[in-house]
This record gives sequence, structure tokens and C-alpha cells, in this order.
Amino acid sequence: MKEIEISRAILKSHFNALMDNLSTDVVIVGAGPSGLVAAGYLSEKGIKVTVLEKRLSPGGGVWGGGMGFKYATVQKEALKVLQDFNISYVEDPSGLFVFDTIELASGLIFGAVKKGAQLFNLITVEDLLISEKRVRGVVINNTFALMEGFPIDPLTIEAKFVVDATGHEHEVVKTLSRKNDVKLNTPTGKPLGERSLFAEPAEKGVVNNTKEVYPGLFVCGMSTAAVFGYYRMGPIFGGMLLSGKKLFEILSKRLQDGDKEKT
Ligand SMILES: Cc1cc2nc3c(=O)[nH]c(=O)nc-3n(C[C@H](O)[C@H](O)[C@H](O)COP(=O)(O)OP(=O)(O)OC[C@H]3O[C@@H](n4cnc5c(N)ncnc54)[C@H](O)[C@@H]3O)c2cc1C
Repeated sequence: MKEIEISRAILKSHFNALMDNLSTDVVIVGAGPSGLVAAGYLSEKGIKVTVLEKRLSPGGGVWGGGMGFKYATVQKEALKVLQDFNISYVEDPSGLFVFDTIELASGLIFGAVKKGAQLFNLITVEDLLISEKRVRGVVINNTFALMEGFPIDPLTIEAKFVVDATGHEHEVVKTLSRKNDVKLNTPTGKPLGERSLFAEPAEKGVVNNTKEVYPGLFVCGMSTAAVFGYYRMGPIFGGMLLSGKKLFEILSKRLQDGDKEKT
């Protein structure tokens, strides 16, 4: 066993994977529950999906429930997604369903990757590729370089569609709106900001607002609340899972119809 061969195998595999993803169908920014669900379903359909996660550990905010406790809940409508990702749950007398958050986080990551999504961690999306009034890809950098504030130029990935699945922070939409004179598909043309906790409408809102917010750019998961001015919901995750599923339905249809160049 030669040390240099270990290094060679790692570098070759990493750069081959990265090269192969420089041009992709869908870039999903953020590997939280909504992004992972969308990535899994889209990949299963043979759509090329690249998920970019700025942290070392993908999974976003589902490694713990309320106050970091181990269990969280979903409503009945979301059970099919849990089943599709082989995640166990039990029914609570309240009519809700309870799952282990560690199983959910690891199961969604494993499921998305096994279904064919290419997931890169430690990559931060810091900006967008934009031309002719359409988002056409993302601008990426090494998370460590950004943390240290090093003056290092980024690289780019081109994509037919980009998804902001960055959660409360809605970093992608925020950047698009801040840096460009654009009008988003919101009542004011700007991100509206998240409202306080009100679980039931929040759960519906996160699904209803899973949509295209600017040509080529979609939102799913918690970033929908921040962009469209909806409530937060606390540790019930059905809306996140269903938002990812809805995004899959929208994007697979758009790619199937080949209407990407019409917008
Ligand atoms: C770290 C974290 C911890 C949380 N803890 C709790 C909790 O304990 N209890 C609770 O009820 N709710 C918690 N939340 C909120 C809750 O998880 C959300 O309601 C839910 O997880 C949102 O799911 P999501 O799919 O929208 O994305 P999130 O789970 O929020 O995941 C978004 C992902 O996007 C990544 N990301 C953000 N910006 C970029 C970028 N520029 N480039 C690349 N990747 C990016 C983030 O690192 C994160 O992994 C937490 C959220 C986060 C991010």
C-alpha cells in the first residue's frame, strides 16, 4: 500500500466527479430535508442533479427536533415520502407521526445519493450566473476560504435550473435580489421575510410557495417562507418533505417539456 496511491485515488475521483458536474440539469443549493427529497426523486427519474452543501455534514436542520431533542413529527400526507426513503415512523395518539431525526437526516442523505444525486459538501454557493434575465448556474467557492475571508476567486457550475434550498437564510434569493436590479415573483418584487410560528398555515404555505421565483431559479423548503413572507412551523417536517416532492414534480415536468429556453 503506497501513500501516494491513496492520494491519487482520492484526487482523481474527486476531480472527475466535479468535472462531470460542471454542467448539470439541476443545482440544488443546500442539503437540508427539502433539497435532499427533491434531489432523490429527480435523480431517480434520470435527471442530473448536483447538490451543493456548505457544511461538512449534509442534512441541514433535521439532525434534531425542537430544542435538539431526538424526535420530530410529520403529518399523514408526508408518509409516502418517508416510505420512499425507507424511514421508519410510529403513529402518535394525536394523529401525528413521530420519527427519529437522526434516522431522517442520514436516511435522506443516503437515499438521495443512492438514487443518483451527486452531493458535494464544503462548497458554498456565493453568487449566481445570470444572463438574459435568467439564472443559468451558480458561483461556488471553498467554504474554508470564505470562512477565513481569503481573497480567492470562485468557480462556476452551469445548470438548466437552480434551487434555493438554503432554509431560513434564503441565501441564493437574497443574493440575487441584493446584487441585481431584478423583480422577483413576489408581491413586492423582493424577499418578504419570514413570519412568526403558526404551524398549520406554515406547513401549507411552504408547499404552495414551492415555485419559480425568478426565471431559472426555484425555492423549496424553509426558504419559501422567507421569500414569500410566510410563517415558520417548528419541528414538524411534513411541509419540508412535501415541498421537495412538489419541486421534483415541477422540475421534472419542465425538463420533460423542454421549455427551459422559452423563459
Ligand atoms: C444547522 C441548522 C440547524 C437547525 N436546527 C433546528 C432544530 O434544532 N429544530 C428545529 O425545529 N429547526 C431547526 N432548524 C430549522 C429547520 O431545520 C428547518 O425548518 C428545516 O430543516 C428546513 O429545511 P430546509 O430543507 O428548508 O433546509 P435546512 O434544513 O435549513 O438546510 C439548508 C442547508 O443549506 C445549506 N446552505 C445554506 N446556505 C448555503 C450556501 N450559500 N451554499 C451551500 N449550502 C448552503 C445549510 O448549510 C443547510 O445545510 C435548523 C436549521 C439549520 C440550517
